[in-house]
Amino acid sequence: MMFTRLYLHIPFCLRKCGYCAFNSQEMLVNDLNSYVPLLLEEMRLLAADANPRQQLDSIYFGGGTPSLLDAEQVNSLIVKATEHFGLDPCSEITLEANPGTINQRTLTAFRTAGINRLSLGIQSFDDNFLECLGRVHNADQARKAILEARNAGFENIGIDLMNSLPSQNLAQWQTDLKQGIELSPEHFSIYGLTIEEGTPFSHRYPYGSTEMPDEDLSADMFEMADDLLTAAGYEHYEIANYARPGHRSRHNSGYWQRDGCLGLGVGAHSFFKDENGVRLSNVSTLKEYKEALNAGRLPHLDNQRLSRDEAMQEYMFLGLRLADGVSMDKFELEFGCSCLGVYGKVIDELVLLGLLLCDKTNLRLTRRGMLLSNQVFASFLP
Ligand code: SF4
Repeated sequence: MMFTRLYLHIPFCLRKCGYCAFNSQEMLVNDLNSYVPLLLEEMRLLAADANPRQQLDSIYFGGGTPSLLDAEQVNSLIVKATEHFGLDPCSEITLEANPGTINQRTLTAFRTAGINRLSLGIQSFDDNFLECLGRVHNADQARKAILEARNAGFENIGIDLMNSLPSQNLAQWQTDLKQGIELSPEHFSIYGLTIEEGTPFSHRYPYGSTEMPDEDLSADMFEMADDLLTAAGYEHYEIANYARPGHRSRHNSGYWQRDGCLGLGVGAHSFFKDENGVRLSNVSTLKEYKEALNAGRLPHLDNQRLSRDEAMQEYMFLGLRLADGVSMDKFELEFGCSCLGVYGKVIDELVLLGLLLCDKTNLRLTRRGMLLSNQVFASFLP
């Protein structure tokens, strides 16, 4: 098993947001306290199979709401990961945090515990939208979280903002973006709200609901984010992500470049680069996860060994998410055949549609291609 990235999934939240389809559940304190030893046990069982020559380059606490952990729990996970897998001293160690669960004291403790990058789920600086989304924080807490993170010594702060919210107009989106820029985080992740089946939002805003922004307005919001953030000095380095130079998310960049990642926890996914690549998923409920580990078994649900064709398709649609695009030389090095030889026809069609730029060495999405990325990625599938 080769990997340089470690993902730890914390599947608990204070309250479930109305739009959320992630693997998370409302938390009972006992669940959280008994979960950390299970994560440590999973790590211990896996360590025997890890390649002894590798070292972790990034650790990512994702969720759910990882900021519900206390600093001691976070530290114990980092210390054990270091013992089992080795940790590069310059590693990126990220914690996703919900502004409603942190304060100056806890942020300082997280920083001391080894977290050096904070990803704040702000979503909006407008109380009405935060309430509509069912978030546990308000706009004051969102602003305060960024300022307190700075005071706690964080020099690498990312914030998430959402657009295409019910009844949201362009001026309101502009206000959110401007407030975010004024607070000067190093990184922005910008997501459009999507209505996922089975969530309360899918009943509140059924398909065709007039309260939901239409495609044109969503496209205008995407372009506004691109214009304002790039003018403020952020690089648009991935479809949904912007960073000050030197502050791209190392962990997520590894995902788009198909670097190996070990995922631990309920519903976590791993990717190992053996041959064409292997994807592995953990069981998705806390009950099954507990049962497996208490019985001394790894909580694996299934694994998928990718064929060469699947690996090439994945290489294309993950690589094209990045503004740097896909290098034709690297493709050839990886698969021993020319990218144009395999996908020449699809590439020509996408270039003609104005969705892709192709020069001798590189393929990249145009701005329109980024907007219609799902259509582009689907063209690489059989
Ligand atoms: S905080 Fe995040 S993971 Fe938790 S319910 Fe809300 S959207 Fe889902």
